[in-house]
Amino acid sequence: MDKEREGCIFCKIVNKTIESQILYEDDEIIAFKDIKPQAPVHILIIPKIHIEKISDINSDNSNLITKMIVVANKIAKDNNLDNEGYRLVFNCGEAAGQEVFHIHLHLLGGRKFGWPPG
Ligand code: AMP
Ligand code: ZN
Repeated sequence: MDKEREGCIFCKIVNKTIESQILYEDDEIIAFKDIKPQAPVHILIIPKIHIEKISDINSDNSNLITKMIVVANKIAKDNNLDNEGYRLVFNCGEAAGQEVFHIHLHLLGGRKFGWPPG
């Protein structure tokens, strides 16, 4: 894929040059299990194109985010989380704890979450 960013681990997951447990894939989006789950259900939903941060989203590319949320909702439903609830998180930038600079939506569920977050 021409939009792969060299050295980006999530671009490598998109291109299947490193392994992941993929739960959903279409032309624009891929979802896979987080390698270090923070909850019984912890899935990452990402766009296939390399975009670094949620702050890079604008009116030209925001349709991708809508699609990611629709995928997250479907996976939540498949995991019977729609009644009890679940958390969707974007970490944007280092202060928020972003470690991988390729946009990803965390879907977390299967336990109770505290607020405010740590
Ligand atoms: P963030 O801190 O929001 O950037 O989240 C990055 C997430 O990516 C963390 O929850 C990591 O556990 C997860 N992660 C890093 N490398 C991989 C990988 N190879 N496969 C699946 N998840 C990963
Ligand atoms: Zn990338």
